[in-house]
Amino acid sequence: MKTYGHFIDGAYVEPTGGKWIDSLNPYTGEAWARIPQGCAQDADRAVQAAAKAMHEGPWAGMNASTRGKLMLRLGELIAANAERLAEVEVRDNGKLLAEMLGQVRYNPEWWRYFGGLADKLEGAVVPIDKPDMFAFTRHEPVGVVAALTAWNSPLLFIAWKCAPALAAGCTVVVKPSEFASCSTLEFAALTKEAGIPDGVFNVVTGYGPEVGSALVEHRDVAKVTFTGSDATGARIYAQAAKTMKRVSLELGGKSPNIVFDDCDIDAAIAGVISGIFAATGQTCIAGSRVLVQNSIKERFTERLVELGRTARKGDPMLPDTNIGPVTTAPQYRKILDYIEIAKAEGARCILGGGPAPDLPGGQFVEPTIFADVTPDMRIAREEVFGPVLSIIGFDDEAEAVRIGNDTIYGLAAGVWTKDIGRAVRMSAALKAGTVWVNTYRAVSYMMPFGGMKHSGIGRESGIEAVREYLETKSVWISTAQGVPANPFVMR
Ligand code: NAD
Repeated sequence: MKTYGHFIDGAYVEPTGGKWIDSLNPYTGEAWARIPQGCAQDADRAVQAAAKAMHEGPWAGMNASTRGKLMLRLGELIAANAERLAEVEVRDNGKLLAEMLGQVRYNPEWWRYFGGLADKLEGAVVPIDKPDMFAFTRHEPVGVVAALTAWNSPLLFIAWKCAPALAAGCTVVVKPSEFASCSTLEFAALTKEAGIPDGVFNVVTGYGPEVGSALVEHRDVAKVTFTGSDATGARIYAQAAKTMKRVSLELGGKSPNIVFDDCDIDAAIAGVISGIFAATGQTCIAGSRVLVQNSIKERFTERLVELGRTARKGDPMLPDTNIGPVTTAPQYRKILDYIEIAKAEGARCILGGGPAPDLPGGQFVEPTIFADVTPDMRIAREEVFGPVLSIIGFDDEAEAVRIGNDTIYGLAAGVWTKDIGRAVRMSAALKAGTVWVNTYRAVSYMMPFGGMKHSGIGRESGIEAVREYLETKSVWISTAQGVPANPFVMR
């Protein structure tokens, strides 16, 4: 069993309190590694290292082109280590190797994109309206960033957060989920190999309320970027306000996948299935509500169930597995509870509807579909974060928009139609950070991603992501000769 240390100031170190957490493989149910159970002192050590690198160390003095080149080198190292890193992620979170490998192989693009951007973050000369003044803006790194991440895609979240943060000139302390920290700790060594100076990228592991909370409260942390549940996000937002920290939050969703009767039915069925069953439903963008036009609802539902039934559950490392285990024991219980709630509320279970107990690890849930769901039911309103789909009927576009937007969340939405006008109208009317038309789950380093309403604050990826890590400073220089005639009047 491998034992990891925190990664602080360029070296792996033992936790101050000498305590460890077993990292479990969700497929076998067995511990396969140990990670440090960090405490406030560990968080402080990491922040001190990050602050020193930021304000005094080589990062502070390094020009942006050099910083960018180190990030490009890191991208190459991720590519060279993709298989190994993906396998570590699967051992920790039980997601399919095929998916994690795809994610890790795509990951270097964030480092290339933001590495290339590092030396293009120009301020602007402002053609100022005052006489005898030269004015310009500068973009400066916000400071030390604490990045708190969820267990479903650890290295993807690091790319989303740390690539723009490092491009901006910030230094970071990452606190990965206690359920899946190992790939982040493995990744840390690559930052060193790439030549990124000590203290720029640090990792402390452990429980949220212990080490995560200490980072959020720390006076020398300027910004918190968080991916996780909306309940934790709200707590962090309130806590961060006490020290006036900047905050980006990527939270949950209850995304509608809206199917009109004029769509390509085969494509829509495939899109709805991958929208909810990929990653065993454990994605923030899961299309957990399918809104189907009533004119095709019966036929569509039958075909959906037909395809859903073919899903093969099993070992996530095997290429022909479609559904892996649920990552964590609390999440497994939560999904089963929601299935019972849906049944009790009167939703009709037409596929699955319970645990799959004959598989290893004891954390498999049957892919589940509920019909006759009404928008007021809890199964239609609350995030399950599992392979559970609710089918809701609608008659026309206006009703689809009303039901689609009838949620506290606003992360993503899918629209399936061949009518271009409708596609444009729907994409404008839906209150979501991302709208996919005739596709679902597409993401790119170039495209901003984030949520409206309770799904979060701020955007990741795309050029605007780097602004989350910058402060704008306005500089005024007087070009006037002599002194003002009346020094008591503001110019
Ligand atoms: P979580 O909120 O339980 O934990 C996320 C991180 O916060 C973990 O590192 C955890 O240790 C830490 N944390 C917990 N309590 C804390 C506290 N009091 N102070 C500081 N840190 C604390 O979320 P999770 O269960 O790991 O992830 C699942 C959730 O993440 C789902 O709701 C999902 O929708 C959301 N998610 C969102 C996105 C997105 O980009 N919008 C992506 C993936 C997952």
